[in-house]
Amino acid sequence: MRTVLVVEDEAPLAETLRFNLEDEGYRVRTADDGLEGLSMAQALQPDLVLLDLMLPRMDGIEVLRRIRERSQTPVLLLTARTSEADRVRGLDLGADDYITKPFSLAELKARVRVHLRRKQEIEVEARVLTFGDFTLDLNRHLLTRDGEPIPLRPKEYELLAYLVQRDGRAFTRDQLLNDVWDISFAGGTRTVDVHVRWLRKKIEQPDVPPRHLITVRGAGYRFER
Ligand code: CA
Repeated sequence: MRTVLVVEDEAPLAETLRFNLEDEGYRVRTADDGLEGLSMAQALQPDLVLLDLMLPRMDGIEVLRRIRERSQTPVLLLTARTSEADRVRGLDLGADDYITKPFSLAELKARVRVHLRRKQEIEVEARVLTFGDFTLDLNRHLLTRDGEPIPLRPKEYELLAYLVQRDGRAFTRDQLLNDVWDISFAGGTRTVDVHVRWLRKKIEQPDVPPRHLITVRGAGYRFER
């Protein structure tokens, strides 16, 4: 079941959206201010977010910016007709679409369907990723080079899969520790460095600077396909 997060402070509108989206078969969660919306977006990892722009405690633009630091989930903005500058800013910050209030529920539902379908297509396509001579198959948890499997420890695989799927973005050791290792894991950020070193032995050429698993000075690591 797909989860839609509705961040909207007008209670009657939030309820109407909930009712109509549940009717479409989605699981719906609602937040009535920006801060709660952001924390629910991070905790629930919804398949799609409907985000009002004018929200108490944190405005929708800031919520969007913070969601996009960690996630590519589709975000549809709900905006007033008068707020063109905010709409443009929202699209620049990575919103997928916007819909102007007052909107027809049929149109909103159609847009939600389109974005969920697109997300699913992207996910299916993205299950097999390539870099250099390597192929990382996320369905089979398998790394191969020219068709030959490269054995990986479980956390090596998870770290690699995490970074390859976020190609080009830099992550701190703390972020990686937080996202790749269990929250209960007591080891320090040194663990990340150890796994990076192991991975480099498997995917990089010896004696030349890494091409894929790159150290970002003062920050952490990023992956380049
Ligand atoms: Ca509002």
